[in-house]
Amino acid sequence: MRVDLVVVGAGLFGLTVAEQAAERGLDVAVVDRRDHPGGNAWSETDPETGIEVHRYGAHLFHTSNERVWEYVNRFTGFTAYQHRVWTVHGGEVYPLPINLGTLNQFFRSNHGPDEARRLVAEQAAELMGEPRNLEEKAVSLIGRPLYEAFIRDYTAKQWQTDPRDLPAEVISRLPVRYTYDNRYFNDRYEGLPTDGYAAWLSRMADHPRISVHLGTDFLDGDHALSRDAVRGQVPVVYTGPVDRYFGDAHGALGWRTLDFEREVLPVGDFQGAPVMNYADGDVDFTRILEFRHFHPERDYRADRTVIVRERSRSAGPGDEPYYPVNTPEDRSRLLAYRELVEQERASGVAFGGRLGTYQYLDMHMAIASALRLVDDLDELVHGRGTVTAAGRRAALA
Ligand code: FAD
Ligand code: UDP
Repeated sequence: MRVDLVVVGAGLFGLTVAEQAAERGLDVAVVDRRDHPGGNAWSETDPETGIEVHRYGAHLFHTSNERVWEYVNRFTGFTAYQHRVWTVHGGEVYPLPINLGTLNQFFRSNHGPDEARRLVAEQAAELMGEPRNLEEKAVSLIGRPLYEAFIRDYTAKQWQTDPRDLPAEVISRLPVRYTYDNRYFNDRYEGLPTDGYAAWLSRMADHPRISVHLGTDFLDGDHALSRDAVRGQVPVVYTGPVDRYFGDAHGALGWRTLDFEREVLPVGDFQGAPVMNYADGDVDFTRILEFRHFHPERDYRADRTVIVRERSRSAGPGDEPYYPVNTPEDRSRLLAYRELVEQERASGVAFGGRLGTYQYLDMHMAIASALRLVDDLDELVHGRGTVTAAGRRAALA
């Protein structure tokens, strides 16, 4: 097998790098330890109902990045789906993200936008200066009563970490609106892949210059595409966990993982919406996903539905790392890992993606960042100078 580039991880970051490198004439080997490509965006058809289920939790595509939108449309069309979420608090259902509807229902009021802004400003007045963590940021945005009802316990369940130890950015992902607009995302483009995530992601890897090696762990074992065989011989783009690459040299970074409890119910519609959050601490799951609602345009059977209850907990050594927790201790460890990452560049290894950079990246962010890496691919593949056919191509037995 002769390859010009090894990509570790067949998630959206790795697939974008691989596809773009192949388009530029490089032969690429993609390895993934899972038995399917696509990383966490992968989906499958539930055998009993035919309903598409996102195996690693609900994945909603949205972006305002023109380059990313143009790129993804080469592989799939998108439906007109717009994401909306509701939440249960104290036995009552409220709209999310927090908007005028949520606020007026909660306070049993009839405030217009300006009155609502004034009310929240009064309730947030306890805070002075820049918010230093998630709790302070949330209180500054929505005031303490709404924070305690909809954010505090949900966040504690999601992150298993005191909201005062979490970075403010986590909550900045959620808009707060003084209108009745309850769309979850603000982006220009939004939708779900028309014929599913599996079809989209498989198409990205379907290129004569790309070989995909599933069930293959780059860091383990004695095989032709292991780190020991490849490092220093062929350039590598690594999208696995950064701490694991360095054998946890600076200690393990904190991640949270999710448990998905899937159930097929003998009803046509269980909750009337794709996602229902459960804000209160006395319910042990964070949300229920009902997958049929992601594709109202599809002709799914009317007597069965698939729901998934999602629970969150700290990831142990054998668990899938889903979300970087990013406590102050994690952030100082990450700085130490970044130095090692910088040094690995000399051996032709570049790090990317969610796990490789220890960053929460939405799909469009992972793709945008992969496209930027590809812009510099010449430098990684050939050290410096222009691309030539030979490059640092290596024979991997
Ligand atoms: P991943 O998809 O995690 O891919 C990394 C791959 O590397 C994996 O397949 C893994 O098996 C492989 N790997 C790791 N270590 C090794 C190794 N040693 N050897 C070989 N292979 C290895 N984004 C959105 O835009 N909208 C959403 O609604 C959304 N919802 C999400 C919900 C959840 C629960 C999660 C976890 C993420 C969500 N995301 C969402 C983010 C989205 O999943 C990522 O942006 C996307 O998957 C890109 O990730 P990636 O390629 O960096 O990593
Ligand atoms: N959040 C919350 N209550 C909700 C929804 C979200 O407190 O009903 C907080 C929570 O901390 C969450 C963050 O906002 O992690 C971002 O929410 P989003 O839905 O973007 O991300 P998730 O963590 O669910 O993937």
